[in-house]
Amino acid sequence: MGPEVQAALNDQIRMELSSGYVYLAMAAQFEAQSYDGFAHWMRLQAREELEHAMRLFDYVNRRGGRVVLQAIPCPPEEFGAPLQAFRNALEHEQAVTASIHRLYALAGDHNDVATQRELDWFVTEQVEEEENAGRAVDLLTRAGDDAASLLFLDREFGGRAAEDHGD
Ligand code: MG
Repeated sequence: MGPEVQAALNDQIRMELSSGYVYLAMAAQFEAQSYDGFAHWMRLQAREELEHAMRLFDYVNRRGGRVVLQAIPCPPEEFGAPLQAFRNALEHEQAVTASIHRLYALAGDHNDVATQRELDWFVTEQVEEEENAGRAVDLLTRAGDDAASLLFLDREFGGRAAEDHGD
């Protein structure tokens, strides 16, 4: 693979790891507030981001490229109310989607069909990521400041199961 595509894949690895770090920070805030369900949701999300990074890590190596890890920015300590945190998560996923699409276009510019094929999985995954975060924002918007509704949603989000990407 060419140096531009390799560099962009390394940037994407950083972005996935950085996403995981942000979700872990959100989990830390929710756990401190005893929102165990929201924390569980964020922990699963953080783990998924690590899996995304490792998927690209393995791909670069399989192509004979070189993975070069980069610094991960320090995430914020506070994200505000659950609605604010999940809105932040949705915006974050939209930025990741845009980054994947740019990477896809770059691979096309370099006729790197194999990388585009690899990225197909990520394109589909991002649709799901935005759907999940968007649904959370919708439900939290409806709950507003109502404590009983927030506790109900915390319970519900606590039931989120880990995804099985059997592929
Ligand atoms: Mg990701």
